[in-house]
Amino acid sequence: MTRADRIAGSMYGAAIGDALGSAFEFIDAATIHRTLREPFVWDYRPAEHGSLLHPREPGRPTDDTAMALSVAATVACDEPLTAELFARRFLTDLERDKGRFSEMFWRGGPGGATTRALSRLRAGADPVSCGHREDGGNGAAMRVHPVGFLSDRDSVLKVAALQARVTHGHPAAVAAAQTVAVLVHDAISGREPSLELPIGIDDATLAATWRAMHRDVIIGGPLPPHLRNIAMSGWATVAGAHAIASTFAGEPERAIAAAAASGGDTDTVASIVGAIVGARYGLAALPLRGVDTLHGRDLIDSAISACCSGLCAEKQGV
Ligand SMILES: [Mg+2]
Repeated sequence: MTRADRIAGSMYGAAIGDALGSAFEFIDAATIHRTLREPFVWDYRPAEHGSLLHPREPGRPTDDTAMALSVAATVACDEPLTAELFARRFLTDLERDKGRFSEMFWRGGPGGATTRALSRLRAGADPVSCGHREDGGNGAAMRVHPVGFLSDRDSVLKVAALQARVTHGHPAAVAAAQTVAVLVHDAISGREPSLELPIGIDDATLAATWRAMHRDVIIGGPLPPHLRNIAMSGWATVAGAHAIASTFAGEPERAIAAAAASGGDTDTVASIVGAIVGARYGLAALPLRGVDTLHGRDLIDSAISACCSGLCAEKQGV
């Protein structure tokens, strides 16, 4: 499998998970399982009554993918990767009614920490420390997978953290974003998957949550009950998403389908699972109907092309 297959797998895996999960965002797992008669979302569906995004047509990615596309455009460009550059791109790409990814973002239920940070940036806040320390949601982790396409692992850790702090200042949320980026990087590099927190991640809150989320995980077994209705903090979302991906190791479509049915912030959990398993198993392992009928394919294909041509050359990033 080529590096380009894995980059395309990660971008599409994340967007497919986002679109599958968006039908049930903020609905609890028991209700989803009752509705579907099984704990998996295999196909795109209109947003359910009671979900955050109702009414919404099937197959539309949300704010998670809009921000990932903005991050992809940033890491693929030929400039040093600074907090200022990420902030400038977010403001331009996500500007209401004008930005490239505006509709996907603003009609996709963006998180409060992110929208507040965008307002502060617009008012002139310093991007290096714009994210407040109390903001520990999963918004910095859901968009970060393109940073994992950088070739140097230390740069991945540094850039993942600086892009996180533009909107989220909680140290465990920053570490959670770093974790997604290095998981994607390690998968692209062909490193063997593991149940352990990746090397280079140092945060006590995330480490404790990681251990709790991975208890009772049996590869090929049923999804443990504590991996339903996962909390929306960055650290719980990322640790839970990895535990789901690990439970369904070798079955990327099933991992994404289970995450989309896991309850709570389903689009973000499924998007992070998709980013990880897509990087590990490549585009060909993802469901073809999920790729073919996804809205915004042209945007995702452009991002993949930009990342493959811009990042196959060595780029230190910082
Ligand atoms: Mg979303």
